[in-house]
Amino acid sequence: MRWKEQLLSLTPYQPGKSIDSVKKQFNLDKIIKLASNENPFGCSPLAHEALQTNPNSLAIYPDGYATRLREKLAAFLQVRENELILGNGSDNIIQIISRALLHPGANTIMATPSFSQYRHNAIIEGAKLKEISLLANGEHDLEAMLAAIDEQTNIIWLCSPNNPTGTYIQKQKLLGFLAQVPDHILVVLDEAYFEYVVAEDYYQSVELTRKYQNLIVLRTFSKIYGLAALRVGYGVANPQIIKALEPAREPFNVNTLGQMVAAAALDDQEFITTCKEKNRQGLQQFYDFCEQHSLNYYPSQTNFILIDFKIDGDEVFQYLLEKGYIVRSGKALGFPTGARITVGSYEENEGVLGAIKEFLANR
Ligand SMILES: *Cc1c(COP(=O)(O)O)cnc(C)c1O
Repeated sequence: MRWKEQLLSLTPYQPGKSIDSVKKQFNLDKIIKLASNENPFGCSPLAHEALQTNPNSLAIYPDGYATRLREKLAAFLQVRENELILGNGSDNIIQIISRALLHPGANTIMATPSFSQYRHNAIIEGAKLKEISLLANGEHDLEAMLAAIDEQTNIIWLCSPNNPTGTYIQKQKLLGFLAQVPDHILVVLDEAYFEYVVAEDYYQSVELTRKYQNLIVLRTFSKIYGLAALRVGYGVANPQIIKALEPAREPFNVNTLGQMVAAAALDDQEFITTCKEKNRQGLQQFYDFCEQHSLNYYPSQTNFILIDFKIDGDEVFQYLLEKGYIVRSGKALGFPTGARITVGSYEENEGVLGAIKEFLANR
């Protein structure tokens, strides 16, 4: 077969190891997964309740417009329904955007290390990638990203807070950047961890989509909402952008259960606030540990932390795996001497930090 040439250079996404496979491999009965930035507190009871109510019929296709979820999201975000696009996870929206704007004659600009799917989709579309290294403090090098723009640039990806560093773009820097990007280039602001942010100089991204007609903001129900299994994400942008993207979206991309449960989960903002607070306390456990052990880390606006162990990240990963903790080695994420660890519950954090302490002591 004559496969697209660019596919030959790609490997499928390497997910964090699954709990079951690790249990079997190391004969452990308890595994703590701190690898994929899932919510350790699960999801709202309202979401569970919604899951119990029967969808009308499994034989019926989902609502392609996601009417109820769309209405609720629009009210929640104070936008109009035509300013929203729904996705099978925000991954799906990244794919839709790439499909709509990238081709072999175009290029796209992203930070590196950042979320892998921008790169992956650009390659599939045959577009040229311009990867701009993060600054030493983990922030996007916005000046260099601007300087990389040329006639063929169609998309710029900003990940704020950034995965895997947890760092964010400050408001004034973002505004300065947006003011300089030509109108015909789509700026994608991926805010998968938006709900975790506590920084005071963070921006109101949804409002910015009103001012900047070339900005789309991506968010998801997979992270703080704790609904990763159901695959629901969304984008907010002005109606012209949404309208242009829609034909690239498959008609029934958000499943019926996902629509029902996400809509219900939106009603429990108390759950979100509580998770955000517990996450800050959890991050503090990691910060304290890093200070005690003189480990460098990036201050995080998310539910994960990237720690520099100054040795091969795979070694840390492997040690923790055998103790029953799944984390992400920095190797696959562009930080070969680091590990990215999702903030868990208090006990989970104590556990993984205890194991790291042992690891450091035994070296
Ligand atoms: C987790 C994550 C996503 C994908 O989320 P889904 O909605 O589950 O597809 C997108 N962007 C970033 C930066 C993420 O970390």
